[in-house]
Amino acid sequence: MAGVIGASEEEIIFTSGATEADNLAILGVARKLRDRGNHIITSLTEHKAVLEACRALEHEGFNITYLPVDTEGNINLLALEHAITPKTILISIMAANNEIGTISPIKAIGRMAHNHNVLFHTDAAQAFGHIPLDVRDMHIDLMSISAHKLHGPKGVGALYLRQEFPAVKLQSVLFGGGQESGVRPGTLNVPGIVGLGAAAEYAQNEMNDTIKKVTALRDKLYQGIAAQVPVEINGPAKNKLSHNLNLYFPNVEAKALINEAKEIAISAGSACTSKEVTPSHVLMALGHDEDRAYSSVRFGLSKYTTEEDIEKAIAAVTRAAKKLRSM
Ligand SMILES: *Cc1c(COP(=O)(O)O)cnc(C)c1O
Repeated sequence: MAGVIGASEEEIIFTSGATEADNLAILGVARKLRDRGNHIITSLTEHKAVLEACRALEHEGFNITYLPVDTEGNINLLALEHAITPKTILISIMAANNEIGTISPIKAIGRMAHNHNVLFHTDAAQAFGHIPLDVRDMHIDLMSISAHKLHGPKGVGALYLRQEFPAVKLQSVLFGGGQESGVRPGTLNVPGIVGLGAAAEYAQNEMNDTIKKVTALRDKLYQGIAAQVPVEINGPAKNKLSHNLNLYFPNVEAKALINEAKEIAISAGSACTSKEVTPSHVLMALGHDEDRAYSSVRFGLSKYTTEEDIEKAIAAVTRAAKKLRSM
């Protein structure tokens, strides 16, 4: 785990997943540094684990800046720098977006944070094992990781917590025994952790091949669908996570499309919030209206996806979309 991100072993705190790591990082830093400042900067397209932790801090007297994004999901670096005040203690910007695949300029953000003496946390649940990450080179102080986003077991993840000078200190969120340097007490999930370590090693060794293969399959999927029914890509078309494709199907309800194309597993918005009836906060942040958000579907690919799967998906989705458009 540590080797994959250029960290040392004692900087890895095992958790139950990225949700817990996000909460530990944000609540822990905020409460530890509250005497120094009460301002945190994040963005509108973060995962709910980050956004809701920030919302909770608002009730404790913290001010949160939620930076807007452009139509491809990018924050503006000048706007970020302008948002920093003498009271800013933490910047939390995700490494890659789970709904539209936008990859953030993590290194530039980390450098900016450190130039202003502000800590930098990144939610790397979608990036770890998928794109190269180096915590020292990218000036990252805290980073959240989830095992099941890289074929590891569910219910395990990690928080990278910088120990090299200056070490990052957190105020405890959980109380108990002294496991994980007291940062995350509780008996460790050893089978899960072994699975996470193995998944990280595989992902690292296969990363370049996987990116090449999955990008080609993803582009084939897009072209196959776009050749038969009207679609538009949500978020960036290029320079994004290879395993992500988020498509807007005008005049087709996403829920109906998902029901109709039963042979394949696709989702509206994020998988975590798929039971919600509100439109995706990520698509809304791109400046789209609710109609577009309710007519958009996310496809997730992986190294296990085959050409056959892609052909099947194109057939199922275009058949369903044509049928729904004719109704
Ligand atoms: C999946 C995900 C999470 C939550 O991770 P869990 O391990 O399921 O708690 C947080 N952030 C992002 C960006 C994710 O994709």
